[in-house]
Amino acid sequence: MDLSVVIPIYNEEQNIVPLYERLNNVLSKLSQGYEIIFINDGSRDSSAQILDDIYSKDSSHVRVIHFNGNFGQHMAIMSGFEQSIGQTVVTLDADLQNPPEEIPKLLAEIAKGFDIVEGVRQVRKDNAFRRYASRLNNWIRQKTTGIQLRDQGSMLRAYDRRVIELMLMSKERSTFIPALAYSYASNPGFVNVEHAERNSGKSKYSIARLLRLHFDLMAGFSSAPLQFVTFTGMGVAALSFLFFIYMILRRIIIGPEAEGLFTLFAIQFFLLGLLLFSVGIVGEYIGRIYLEVRKRPRYVIRKTLSKEEKTTSHE
Ligand code: UDP
Ligand code: MG
Repeated sequence: MDLSVVIPIYNEEQNIVPLYERLNNVLSKLSQGYEIIFINDGSRDSSAQILDDIYSKDSSHVRVIHFNGNFGQHMAIMSGFEQSIGQTVVTLDADLQNPPEEIPKLLAEIAKGFDIVEGVRQVRKDNAFRRYASRLNNWIRQKTTGIQLRDQGSMLRAYDRRVIELMLMSKERSTFIPALAYSYASNPGFVNVEHAERNSGKSKYSIARLLRLHFDLMAGFSSAPLQFVTFTGMGVAALSFLFFIYMILRRIIIGPEAEGLFTLFAIQFFLLGLLLFSVGIVGEYIGRIYLEVRKRPRYVIRKTLSKEEKTTSHE
């Protein structure tokens, strides 16, 4: 098998059939053996039924993994990796934002010897909030984790088998696949790709979910937020010390003063905010450690539709 295409699906009933048709069109023209792996991440619409239908018509190319619930896009992709047998693995979104017609471009780069290939979206078709938040995030990630992704949110990517196997050895549950892959790549490449509006339905990422995802990225790949807490604490302590000296001198030179109550409140509230924020940051790490030490399965598969079963031990 040369190529595996891995696609996470969460309530995408309107998109699956057009996606499958366009994919088939592209992949059948390649002179390569291929498989398409759909992971149904606990969809509550008719996605499951649609996937079963596609499998029953084309079981030689299609495999379907049904999750027992919603475990998130990155866990869905991970289980697709686990089932995949292709020498190269391509991921893309199910909503047709990543045109399947771009896959040959990624494969051409893999053929040149790159072990991961990033599809960089030229004109991103998302709302302004997402575009600017993403730009800020790319910058913060670059500074803190040292992971050099050009377009971290782009899921149109290709990976060589060696990188896939390394990712499968990484058993963490809150991960960010493009960053994980980058950390194992020895020769990362990229190619410019088109990006389209979502075909149908709404984005599955609310602001809260996006924040959580970005925290997975930060906490999973760097301890910079913790250092930020430490350094801020040191800075505040140093400033307070200077302030203390200043107040003592005023007391000696000017005598007792009672004003400045509101300034004091302002400073207090600011420091209280800083303190809560810091506790939160520490808590994010502790929460993730807690999830890991419980050692529950990262995802639960309800059933797998596949002609050839890959012999792996789950988790
Ligand atoms: N997805 C998933 N599980 C989730 C959320 C999303 O499998 O919990 C899938 C979704 O069906 C889509 C891809 O991940 O194929 C990207 O999701 P979406 O298009 O909503 O994200 P956006 O493009 O807004 O970043
Ligand atoms: Mg999308």
